[in-house]
Amino acid sequence: MPKALLIVDYTNDFVAPAGKLTAGTPAQSIAPAINRLAEAFRAQQDFVFLPTDLHVAGDPYHPETKLFPPHNEEGTWGRAYYGDLEPWYQQHKAETNVQAFPKRRYSSFAGTPLDQWLRERHVTDLHIVGVCTDICVLHTAIDAYNLGYTITIHSDACATFNPDGQNFALDHFKNVLGATVL
Ligand code: ZN
Repeated sequence: MPKALLIVDYTNDFVAPAGKLTAGTPAQSIAPAINRLAEAFRAQQDFVFLPTDLHVAGDPYHPETKLFPPHNEEGTWGRAYYGDLEPWYQQHKAETNVQAFPKRRYSSFAGTPLDQWLRERHVTDLHIVGVCTDICVLHTAIDAYNLGYTITIHSDACATFNPDGQNFALDHFKNVLGATVL
C-alpha cells in the first residue's frame, strides 16, 4: 500500500533566522531529516504532500490576524520552503506524486482536498513532519486520527518554539492519538 509524507509548513517564515514567525534553531536543525524523508518517499513512488499556510496581508476576517504577526503571505520569500527543500520542490513539483497546496488553518485537512486526494490514492498510512509540532502538526494529526488514518510522527523531523511544547505534542501523538512516534 502506498504511503504519504506530509511536510507541514516548512517555510522560511516559520524556520529561517529572518522568518517572521520563526521557531528558530530547533526548526532549522530538522532540515536534513525532512529533506532525506522527502527524497526517500519520492524515490519509492510514495506520495509527498506539502500543506503550506497561506495568508493575505491584513485579512480582517482571518482569526490568526489577531493572534500572530503577518506571515506566509502569498508570493513572498517567507512562504518559500526553507533551505534545500525549496530547490527540491522546484525540481520535482511537476511529478504526480509531489503536491504542494495552500491551507488557511492549522490543520492540513481544514478546507483542503487532502482527505479526498489520500482516498483516491488508497493511502491510509500517513507520515507527518514539519512545524510547529504542537500547532499545525498537532492539528493535522488530530484530524488524521478523526478520519481514521494510521499516523507516524518522525520526532527528528518535527520542531516547535520550546521543549515543553515539543514534549507535550510528542506525548499526545503517542498516548492520545495512538500514533507511532519514531
Ligand atoms: Zn498562519
